[in-house]
Amino acid sequence: MARLLEGKPLAEKIKEEIKHDVLALKRAPVLASIQATDNPGALAYIKSQKKTAESLGIEYQLHDLGKDVAEEGLTELIQKLNQDKAIDGIIIQMPLPAAIDYKKISQYISPGKDIEGMHPANIGKILFGKAKLVPCTAAAAMELLISSGVDLYGREVVVVGHSEIVGKPLSLLLLDRFATTTVCHIGTSKAGKLEEHVKRAEVLIVAVGKAGLIKGEWIKEGAIVIDVGINRVADKIVGDVEFEEAEKRASFITPVPGGVGPLTVTMLMRNLVQAAK
Ligand code: NDP
Repeated sequence: MARLLEGKPLAEKIKEEIKHDVLALKRAPVLASIQATDNPGALAYIKSQKKTAESLGIEYQLHDLGKDVAEEGLTELIQKLNQDKAIDGIIIQMPLPAAIDYKKISQYISPGKDIEGMHPANIGKILFGKAKLVPCTAAAAMELLISSGVDLYGREVVVVGHSEIVGKPLSLLLLDRFATTTVCHIGTSKAGKLEEHVKRAEVLIVAVGKAGLIKGEWIKEGAIVIDVGINRVADKIVGDVEFEEAEKRASFITPVPGGVGPLTVTMLMRNLVQAAK
């Protein structure tokens, strides 16, 4: 039976380190959060970010532009926050109004204040093994994996999902640790090859958003399984991996909820302190 890789205890440990770093700064670092939505999920997420920030001695400054803001309103605010020396980091809350393209807008954030790690300059640094601001979910998955004590050198690692916020940055971080990294995506599934890749994974990381995509019986005996997926099924939150069967075969597995999720906001705060430094 697998040991659980839980996010909360690790998040608590990292929060202690963040508090330490905040004290060393001798001032409260400031996180500017841009909101252009009244989506209840987003509002709950903002509330949780604020609570976490304040518990760590970080000032959380919310800029609510309203859900009808135009692109110019958003870019103007970003420019203002870029120039404001009192602001250490900027986050744009999702979703944005339908007419606004997040990918385009996020590039206006100055790379040094890009605490979501999505600016091309920061993504580029991952390629060179010099990343300071890493996309939070990829960083959270990596921290959980490392906490298992695994030596990634030469390991067969399979990442399922190649999104810009999780799968792609994660695959680069894994390569940097000399893992033999395979990235699977929709093309792999359509070619009928997902099962064969998953079956040989010593480490499996799944970030797709499809409940039951990874069959429990595919998990290699002793594998480490990091399930990033979040899916609502009949009022329950589940991941992308069939947990009950996978748990019997894996050596370590993340629960969903309670695995990667609780670490993500902590990673955002760690990036903020990094940006403040
Ligand atoms: P995206 O939708 O951006 O990416 C999903 C990826 O999965 C894409 O690369 C997609 O390929 C691929 N994919 C889709 N269907 C299949 C399939 N049948 N077989 C193999 N690959 C497939 O999602 P995100 O990366 O943003 O998020 C992934 C999951 O992680 C979601 O469930 C999300 O809720 C969760 N998440 C969890 C977080 C946390 O804090 N725990 C934070 C962020 C996300 P293609 O695009 O080519 O179709």
